[in-house]
Amino acid sequence: MTTLSGIAASPGIGIGPVHVLDPEEIEVQDEPIPPGEVPAEQERFRAAIEASRREVAEVRHKIALETGEEHARLLDPQLAILEDPEATPQTLAMIERDRRSAGWCYRKILGVVAAHLEESDDEYYRDRALDIRDVKRRVLGHLGGIRSHTLSDLRVPSLVVASDIAPSEMALASREKILGFAIDLGGRTSHTAIMARARGIPTVVGLKQAMDAAREGATALVDGTRGVAIFDPEPEVLEEHRLKQRRYRELASNHAALKDRECVTQDGVDVHLGANLEVPEELPSVIENGAEAIGLYRTEFFYMSRSTLPTEDAQYQAYRTVVEAMAPRPVTIRTLDVGGDKFASYLGTPIERNPFLGMRGLRFSLQREDIFRTQLRAILRATVHGTVRVMFPMVIGLEDFRRARQIMLEVRADLEREETPMASHVPLGVMVETPASVFAIDLLARESDFVSIGTNDLIQYTLAVDRGNEETAPLYEPLHPAVLRALRTVVEAGRRAGIPVGICGEMAGEPLYAVLLLGLGLTEFSVSPFLVPEIKTILNASARCDAAEFAERCLALDTPAEVRAAVTEEMSARYSSYFIA
Ligand code: PEP
Ligand code: MG
Repeated sequence: MTTLSGIAASPGIGIGPVHVLDPEEIEVQDEPIPPGEVPAEQERFRAAIEASRREVAEVRHKIALETGEEHARLLDPQLAILEDPEATPQTLAMIERDRRSAGWCYRKILGVVAAHLEESDDEYYRDRALDIRDVKRRVLGHLGGIRSHTLSDLRVPSLVVASDIAPSEMALASREKILGFAIDLGGRTSHTAIMARARGIPTVVGLKQAMDAAREGATALVDGTRGVAIFDPEPEVLEEHRLKQRRYRELASNHAALKDRECVTQDGVDVHLGANLEVPEELPSVIENGAEAIGLYRTEFFYMSRSTLPTEDAQYQAYRTVVEAMAPRPVTIRTLDVGGDKFASYLGTPIERNPFLGMRGLRFSLQREDIFRTQLRAILRATVHGTVRVMFPMVIGLEDFRRARQIMLEVRADLEREETPMASHVPLGVMVETPASVFAIDLLARESDFVSIGTNDLIQYTLAVDRGNEETAPLYEPLHPAVLRALRTVVEAGRRAGIPVGICGEMAGEPLYAVLLLGLGLTEFSVSPFLVPEIKTILNASARCDAAEFAERCLALDTPAEVRAAVTEEMSARYSSYFIA
């Protein structure tokens, strides 16, 4: 039994057979080679080695120019493997002797060498095993191998173990086939974690060594609430988690009964409890869980789950589906937020040294006005089918907000000329995700119709802690006094300007923080669909006046640790029966 601790990313218990997802694994053809074709197969192999060697040499040359010879030298072992005086002749001999494909033979030969090196105690040799694996992938790629494993072709329901999963890949994950995720990289608010949560799949990220501990097909479990993954669990540990899993399911069925109940505090304050949505396929869970609105529709996933730019009509149809299904409940559509950890190569998002400080969010849209205008046309066309608000991500001040609003007006004028029906008023909002937008919130609130606090980024930029980095995860503290002050500043500015202030980052969906957020004055929450009932239960049991007092107490504390202790104490004393901590 191996127990690993990581970061709790999506609550619940997942138990099942392990499927190790190695997206780089390449499948090779294994048809027997007729004797007459042996020389051609050997030639194909020589050409693949030569092409790989040229590629690595080119990359080495580039690195030497850009970052210096010292870094470029890291590629020398790969060149040495490709020029190895033994591996090539051995592969050629094996093709002839066994009459198997070049890919099959080369993989076999390098596989044995890599396995020996991986077992070595010496770090130098273990690193060479990684080089061998890289070379193998490259050569097999040249031999026409295909990427074999993606989440969409999983056949048996499994607990998926991976080093990392791109958000675009996560968009393919089906809840029926995936019992849980154990992932080595990432933080709680990486988009991979957010998508797992949106699908209600128990997930632990930042495990660092799950890929080493996992054996394909063996039993493992993840506890996505505590942030633990256990491989080959002892029978009693397995039983204990099965029990916990049953308790979760019971709690979930109690929550389901709340679907049609309103979210009102004990002292009569109405709370608007909406859900976040990434792809239209999540609509049923938004509706089943009784969300009153979609408080954040992350449209970028529609762009990322395809290989070419979506047409205006394709976007219009997607937005229309969501808006119509929710009508008359409001849908807040956020314009494209690529960059950071969200890429789509066809969008031409640049490779940047600091992607989270680079061309992301509204900056990208203002740079690629063609893409932005098409999206705004599609959104405006969808407004006739229900209630729509539009908000812009990563606004840092009035200049970018005004420019975006101006483009929106121009697009509206074009559509009016074409006599396209649209809602006469579409509220425009700002996402508060940067310290700049907090400090300038009085200016922004004067001109926008609403604001929504994106705590995932706001915490990252306020505390200067990468939201997706497992190494810095302990520093990513939503309860930091600086974050609480930022929230209070925004709520106050919204109140003064008379505009609604919502919160849609992952902090909003954390049961432990619900009462504190209410106490800070927030009454518009948007959370992962599966968390709606839990947050509703807690808010229905709380009173805003008590929450406000509690928030004042928390704001008077000095350190994140003190705030966390106060919040944990308050929540376990008064609300522990409503959620599993
Ligand atoms: C946020 O930053 O809190 C947010 C909601 O946006 P995203 O997670 O998509 O960056
Ligand atoms: Mg954000």
